[in-house]
Amino acid sequence: MRFADYAKLYLTAGHGGAGMAHFRREKYVPKGGPDGGDGGDGGNITLEGDPHMNTLLDLRYKKFLKAKKGGPGGSSQKTGKKGEDIVLRVPLGTVAYEDETRRFLGEVIEPGAKLVIAKGGRGGLGNANFKTATNQTPNYAQPGEPGEEIVVEIELKLIAEVGLVGFPNAGKSTLLSAVSAARPKIADYPFTTLEPNLGVVQMADHRSFVMADIPGIIENAHEGKGLGLQFLRHIERNKVLLFVINGMSDVEEEYRILCDELKAFRKDLLDKPRMVAVTHMDLYPDHKPEKEVALDVPTVMVSAVTGYEMDQLKERIWEMLHGKGAT
Ligand code: GDP
Ligand code: MG
Repeated sequence: MRFADYAKLYLTAGHGGAGMAHFRREKYVPKGGPDGGDGGDGGNITLEGDPHMNTLLDLRYKKFLKAKKGGPGGSSQKTGKKGEDIVLRVPLGTVAYEDETRRFLGEVIEPGAKLVIAKGGRGGLGNANFKTATNQTPNYAQPGEPGEEIVVEIELKLIAEVGLVGFPNAGKSTLLSAVSAARPKIADYPFTTLEPNLGVVQMADHRSFVMADIPGIIENAHEGKGLGLQFLRHIERNKVLLFVINGMSDVEEEYRILCDELKAFRKDLLDKPRMVAVTHMDLYPDHKPEKEVALDVPTVMVSAVTGYEMDQLKERIWEMLHGKGAT
């Protein structure tokens, strides 16, 4: 799989339809009142969040786009047809900027969420709108307005499905670099919106997921020492939390403290599925600790340095993300 994280689009939204200048035709009345309808609005160009997509590759083949113009107004005050929108499906976490100014246009986070990136022109008013006491027979109507013309940069800000939670020096960064073989690709990302501590974990059969090294949780972090909203903003979007605990420490005790910290920070964080990677197993003979570790969540004993059980860890994470047997 090739990650396409960026696209540049040259967009012209639909022109608004012209309003109509028209007069009612009635028997025996030489000139009826004005009844020209409004033109329809031009089509918008819109992004729509699709939870099943994970690249912007499709957009690369749609460089120049022009939405349909609105239909003209008709007689009997009939409003013209609205120009059809162009709807571009994009992965969640897509952001849009105006190319020239880097003006932020918005982001698509939720499935089905829509973001208009080029607005269609307003339809012109028909002459029915212009009748006044002094002018009963206005013989003019507005033309439609042009659609917005804009060059838009679309970027994919990856949303990490897996967040690493652990104390400083637990081994989070090491683990992330051990599982995200795609790191060089990350370095290719030309934009700074991406978090630097983010890795794409690639597995067999084109499976992949995104993992983020969340700034280290520290004891009593919820009391404001060091972390805060920044931390929450990251962790909120994770689907699975992977606790990283140094296997040379009292694992059960550390696990308990981490749970307490999260809970104190925000109770519902503990509702997220979580698992534990106990690291540093290479420091034990045959990667076997003296003491069994018994936690109430799936636990994998690993070494990020020797790679011991790292494939197993990835598979277990995948299962947790997608359910058993998912491919
Ligand atoms: P972080 O603060 O949680 O990101 O921790 P780091 O990834 O920076 O790791 C802290 C220290 O632990 C570094 O010196 C790593 O080399 C070391 N380390 C991490 N994982 C392992 C491991 O599995 N085995 C060994 N022997 N050392 C590790
Ligand atoms: Mg680190």
